[in-house]
Amino acid sequence: MPGDGIGPEIVAEAVKVLRVVARRFGHRFEMKEYPVGGAAYDCCGDCLPDETLAACKSADAILLGAVGGSKWDRLPVPQRPERRALLMLRSELGLFANLRPAKVWDALTGASPLKVEIVSAGIDMLIVRELTGGAYFGEKGRGDGGRSAYDVTPYSVHEIERVARVAFEAARRRFPQGGGCDGDEAARRRFPQGRPKVTSVDKANVLETSRLWRETVTALHDAEYADVELEHLYVDNAAMQLVRAPSRFDVILTENMFGDILSDEASQITGSIGMLPSASVGVSGGGLYEPIHGSAPDIAGKGIANPLATILSAAAMLRHAFGLGAEADAIEHAVASVLARGLRTADIADQGGVSVSTSAMGDAVAEAVGVVI
Ligand code: NAD
Repeated sequence: MPGDGIGPEIVAEAVKVLRVVARRFGHRFEMKEYPVGGAAYDCCGDCLPDETLAACKSADAILLGAVGGSKWDRLPVPQRPERRALLMLRSELGLFANLRPAKVWDALTGASPLKVEIVSAGIDMLIVRELTGGAYFGEKGRGDGGRSAYDVTPYSVHEIERVARVAFEAARRRFPQGGGCDGDEAARRRFPQGRPKVTSVDKANVLETSRLWRETVTALHDAEYADVELEHLYVDNAAMQLVRAPSRFDVILTENMFGDILSDEASQITGSIGMLPSASVGVSGGGLYEPIHGSAPDIAGKGIANPLATILSAAAMLRHAFGLGAEADAIEHAVASVLARGLRTADIADQGGVSVSTSAMGDAVAEAVGVVI
């Protein structure tokens, strides 16, 4: 679903890369396109038309560009693209876990706002955020004639267990195959005990829901994931460690509101919003894959948007929805190689450096994927 603003430009590049993956690895992807967001409102009077929702429900996985723009800001709030399309998709598809990698690519260490000695230690983490529970969805209201307010933060064992399972499974998948961290300083920092690692973030010194969170994560770990190293951090400490020593993290597991804040903090330390993919997975289906950025109306139609976050979202889709790890690796290696060759879109170009267009970047990645190593 291309959506609005730069959405059609960046999704076209991801589709281009997927077609090359299909050719190189001998697959056939059945891809169908549907309108969503403001574009869907313009064509069908609804930011999430029934036909689009039905297609999402029956799809094996969904690739989304972005939605929204000032043209639709005057619509009543419940009908606006972000509310109607994004929140509705999350709830209709039961997307309870959001996975956001935050990685600094070797070729782009200069883009991070952190000191070079911190960044050069290696930053490559995945934040797994619970997406449909906690304060954002709990009972809320006003008392005292409007002079007091409350947002209840409910969590159940079931909700905690299912998102914790996503984090533990992701940690196992991310651990270097064969367990070899030898010779890889960054991997040794992330996995000091030589095994997959999950950092669970809560506020168990203050909140009862956090105490339930910690008990439940620990019990699931002991019963099913004892091979994974599990540490617990309070959210205030986690926020500090993210800027002090981000190289120590691999998978961070946390509840909805803490995850909202920490995942934005983590994405900022990479310094390049146009590079970051995300995945949202649910009770059924293969999930929804999209860049973390919005529709960037300020650069839409200029052919200068960075398509890499969307291309990397397609890689995440191959890995998580279809179990095609080698194909996902091929895309990620291709991205690393075009960056190493110095190709940059305007958002990641060095000051005064040369930049390439959206489609030239997509062509370069597609070409690099097509080269069998
Ligand atoms: P934005 O992420 O669209 O843009 C922020 C800044 O980053 C802009 O300067 C933009 O040009 C730049 N940028 C973003 N993606 C880029 C890319 N791929 N390449 C190069 N530069 C890029 O955030 P915004 O401006 O606050 O929001 C614009 C619209 O997008 C709003 O309507 C907002 O509600 C919507 N939005 C949608 C989503 C989504 O669809 N998931 C997420 C966030 C915002």
